This record gives sequence, C-alpha cells and structure tokens, in this order.
Amino acid sequence: MDRRRFVGGLLATGGLAMLPSAMLMAGQRKGHSLSVPAAELERLQRDPEFWRDLVGEDAWRILFQERTEPAFSSPLDAQYADGTYVCAACHLPLFSSDTKYDSGTGWPSFYDVIDGHIDTKPDFLLIFRRTEYHCIRCGGHQGHVFEDGPEPTGKRWCNNGLALRFVSAEKPLPALRG
Ligand SMILES: [Zn+2]
Repeated sequence: MDRRRFVGGLLATGGLAMLPSAMLMAGQRKGHSLSVPAAELERLQRDPEFWRDLVGEDAWRILFQERTEPAFSSPLDAQYADGTYVCAACHLPLFSSDTKYDSGTGWPSFYDVIDGHIDTKPDFLLIFRRTEYHCIRCGGHQGHVFEDGPEPTGKRWCNNGLALRFVSAEKPLPALRG
C-alpha cells in the first residue's frame, strides 16, 4: 500500500489519533500532495537555452552544465522547515523535508528522493567515478549520490541549493513549467 496515500486517507477520515507517531514522521507530515500524473513525468525535449533566463545564470550553469556551487554557499543547507524541494527549472517536486539531514558537507543533503522523480547516470568528471542525478522531467543536474548516508537508505543525495527551490508546507506548490 502506498504509505502517503494511506496516511492521507486517514487524515481525511479523522483517523489521525490512531497513527503511531513513527509513521507520521516517516510520511509527508502535511501540506503537499506529491503525486504527479505519469504523463507529467515524461522528459521534456527542451534545448538547455530555453531555461537560461528562467533560472538565471548561476543556477543554469549548475542545472545544464553540471557545475557545482561552493560548499556552505546555499541558505537551503540550513533549511529544516516542513515543506518540499522542487526543481528550480521545471518545478517538479524532488525531495520532501522529511528526508533532509545535516551531512556536514555544506550542501543540502537528503537520504531519500521522491520516487520516480529523479534519474541517475555515471559521471567521470573527476578521476573517480561518481553517480550524477538529475530531474527526470527537465534533465536539470541536481547533484551526486553517495553511499555514506544515514539509515534507513544509507544514501546521501548531495544537492546544489541553487538547483532547488524550497516551498514551505503552508504554501502551494508552484505549477510545473516548461
Ligand atoms: Zn526539472
């Protein structure tokens, strides 16, 4: 059973009091429904130049030229409020605040992604192999995933803050664009 839908259903029927707190912690606490119709997850066929003015030069270089922002440069590194992190280019939700943690690296870090919204590929930009990951919809580069993250996944999704936009749980998600 889809846990998010299950929790949402219980909330809708007033069954919240019956939920063990651990389950609430694991699910999306409040605010955004993160289910996106499958058709919306199909890859956009945009020339990278399409995004340049929309996101600004610094974010564009990260998203579409696979640059990396300096460590400790993003205010999102210390952001821990409830909400959703969406792709700065196309606005697809990529991470829930529920999976954010302090990795000490100076980049916003998560131990899990929103299922189906991110794709990966091997990256040899440095001498050693890394795994690059990007938004499945616009292809925008987000960061690299490592195997030294916390439980329950053991993954560290190390993200450029400029490639994301944080949306507080109290505010509506922006419409997808592109
Ligand atoms: Zn995107």
